[in-house]
Amino acid sequence: GDNNINAKLVLLGDMGAGKSSLVLRLVKGQFLEFQESTIGAAFFSQTLAVNDATVKFEIWDTDGQERYHSLAPMYYRGAAAAIVVYDITSVDSFTRAKKWVEELRKQGNPNLVIALAGNKADLEDKRKVSAEEARAYAEENALFFIETSAKTAINVNDTFYEIARRLPRA
Ligand code: GDP
Ligand code: MG
Repeated sequence: GDNNINAKLVLLGDMGAGKSSLVLRLVKGQFLEFQESTIGAAFFSQTLAVNDATVKFEIWDTDGQERYHSLAPMYYRGAAAAIVVYDITSVDSFTRAKKWVEELRKQGNPNLVIALAGNKADLEDKRKVSAEEARAYAEENALFFIETSAKTAINVNDTFYEIARRLPRA
């Protein structure tokens, strides 16, 4: 088959969970304490070499605001992968992440590869969502689960590599 894969990837999740920061970390290797809010959605492109293939991600970073919710299908339709991001210090953001997963399961591409990312893993002392709870939810819903920190860079590249490895091959 063709070993050059183009894959549309969308980031979804509560405002402030760290979607833009994860993308900035992946694409530029940077982190900003005061990351500007995304308005609408932002587009990035990033190519990763995995064992057997070159995966070119077309990354859509959405703003996660409820008032723009009706626009979300534009970003996840046709997507091969989604990263649903929550903040481990916010129970509300985890609840919201579960809503996104339900929506993707109902409306998204049936082969969609979904990663559940518990971000801000560096803030262990403020943790409100246990890794055990999130992992159990992920297993029940056939999601790939990972905890990340855009601040320290832990597991950020791995999240994208693991998604790349799980994409269906042509
Ligand atoms: P978005 O609304 O989901 O795109 O979230 P942002 O990327 O704009 O991040 C919201 C805030 O959280 C910003 O102040 C970031 O600096 C901060 N932030 C993002 N990721 C992390 C992280 O992994 N650790 C910590 N401590 N702060 C983070
Ligand atoms: Mg953002």
